[in-house]
Amino acid sequence: MKGKDLKLLIKIHNLKNSKSVVLKLTTLSISIMFGFFSILIFLLVFTIFTSFKFAFLYLENITLKRQNQSLRKYISQIEEEINIVKNKLKDIFELSNNFRIIAGINPIPQDIKYFGIGGYIQTNDSISNLKFEINNIKRLLELEMKNIKEVESILIKKRDELSRIPSILPARGIIVSNFGYRNDPFTGEWKMHEGIDISAPIGTPVYASADGTVIFAGYKEGYGLCIDISHGNGIITRYAHLSRILVSVGQKVKRSEIIGKVGSTGRSTGSHLHYEIIVNGTPKNPLNYIILSDVVYD
Ligand SMILES: [Zn+2]
Repeated sequence: MKGKDLKLLIKIHNLKNSKSVVLKLTTLSISIMFGFFSILIFLLVFTIFTSFKFAFLYLENITLKRQNQSLRKYISQIEEEINIVKNKLKDIFELSNNFRIIAGINPIPQDIKYFGIGGYIQTNDSISNLKFEINNIKRLLELEMKNIKEVESILIKKRDELSRIPSILPARGIIVSNFGYRNDPFTGEWKMHEGIDISAPIGTPVYASADGTVIFAGYKEGYGLCIDISHGNGIITRYAHLSRILVSVGQKVKRSEIIGKVGSTGRSTGSHLHYEIIVNGTPKNPLNYIILSDVVYD
């Protein structure tokens, strides 16, 4: 580059004289100047970029701190809600245990229920704790759902069994003759009376004393017009001396359903209903079965 150095002409003016200064710029000095300006520009750009970056990070940090605070608050609210749900679940456990007792099955101790789901584990990770608690609640609910379904099926079965146990007086009237030995009104002999006699006017409705199926409906020696209803489990009820029969053999009847009318057919001294309960072939005292005092008749 020798001989090709650049010449920079700088004119400096003042009032009195003017002179020209010729600066001879060598390649080295140009390189130094170029390097110097490059570093300067780089530093300037770097400083501006870094400043923006720090400003951005600072703002981002503030935003994250705020988000973190609100998340912590939110998590703590969820934890409180979970505790409320857990307390409600405990109430439901107690209630369902009461239903188990009513259904005649053993209550489940709460410690067994909690043991079944593995107990409670607390870690320093709030989110993990929440997940653990929510999973616990889900499993407890599934367990409780199974328990309630079990109690429901037992109660339905029991309701069905109860509906087939004779439990009402089958006609409105006055009980004039009880179950047991008595002097036979026809022969005067000391004889077993295998039911009760309910005195009522002819045509008084006669009700089925429980759900069941009619197995006899017709005339029977001594009993006159008579209905026998089977209630399952070896239980049969008999309604005798009727004036009318309103059901037929094979018909299913419900408790309190009208099946006939009081009369005086067969071996009878006056209008009354002779009512028997026979369990596995043995007559039982019907008064021991009349337990529903608040029954509603049609
Ligand atoms: Zn009788």
